[in-house]
Amino acid sequence: MSGVVLQKVVKRFGEAQVIHGVDLVIEDGEFCVFVGPSGCGKSTLLRMVAGLEETSEGAIRIGARDVTKADPSERGVAMVFQTYALYPHMTVAENMGFGLKMTGHPRAEIDRKVAEAARILKLEDLLARKPKALSGGQRQRVAIGRAIVRGPEVFLFDEPLSNLDAELRVEMRAEIARLHREIGATMIYVTHDQVEAMTLADKIVVLRKGKVEQVGKPLDLYHDPDNRFVAGFIGSPA
Ligand code: ADP
Ligand code: MG
Repeated sequence: MSGVVLQKVVKRFGEAQVIHGVDLVIEDGEFCVFVGPSGCGKSTLLRMVAGLEETSEGAIRIGARDVTKADPSERGVAMVFQTYALYPHMTVAENMGFGLKMTGHPRAEIDRKVAEAARILKLEDLLARKPKALSGGQRQRVAIGRAIVRGPEVFLFDEPLSNLDAELRVEMRAEIARLHREIGATMIYVTHDQVEAMTLADKIVVLRKGKVEQVGKPLDLYHDPDNRFVAGFIGSPA
C-alpha cells in the first residue's frame, strides 16, 4: 500500500502563502497528473511530497506512514526533473547506479538493478556511453532510469518532457505510460500539456492559486468541467 494522502496541506514562503489547505487522495498505483497555470503551486506540492520543501501546516502520508517530517531518503519516493542533470564524467550505467552506490549497496545488486532499469527503458546498448553522446530523449530516459533503480513506491515527475521537441515528447509519453503499466507504482506527474494529462492520467488534479479547483478522471473533466477555468485547461472547446 503506497498511495499518497495530503491533509490540509499549507505552504508559506516567508509571508507569502502559496498552498492553501490542499486535501488530496492518490490511490496506490494511480497515475495522478497535476495541471494548472505557471506559479499555481504544482512544483511546490510535488517537492513537499518528496520532502524537498517543508510542509508549513497539514500532513502528508505515503502508504501507512506519516512522512510530513521525514527525510527525503526515508519517503520511498524518487523524483524526475525537467532538467536531468546527469553527471557528465560518468557512463549511463554509473549515472543510474550512483545513488545506490552512495548508500552502500553491493556492487552485484547495483548491476542487477541497473540492468533491469535499462531493459525497461531500452537503454541496454547505451550503458557504456557518456551523457554527451546521448540524444535529449535518451538523457531523459537515463534520468528516469536513475529513479527506477532506487525502487521507489512513488514516482514524482516535474514536467519531465518540457525540454524535449514535440516528436520526442510523444515518444517519451508512451514510454512513461508503458513504465507505469509495467511497474505499477504510484505516480504523480506535473505538466501543463493538456494532451499529456489526458493520455497519461487515471486522475487529473486541476490547481489554481494554490488550491484544488477540480479533481476527476480525464474524460469526466473534459466533458463536464466545473467552470471555465477547468474547461480552459482540460475541457472540450465550447
Ligand atoms: P508551478 O510549479 O505551478 O509553476 P511553483 O510551485 O513553482 O508553481 O510556485 C508556486 C508559487 O510559490 C509561486 O508564486 C512561486 O513564485 C512561489 N515559490 C516557489 N518556490 C519559492 C521559494 N523557494 N521561495 C519563495 N517563493 C517560492
Ligand atoms: Mg513548476
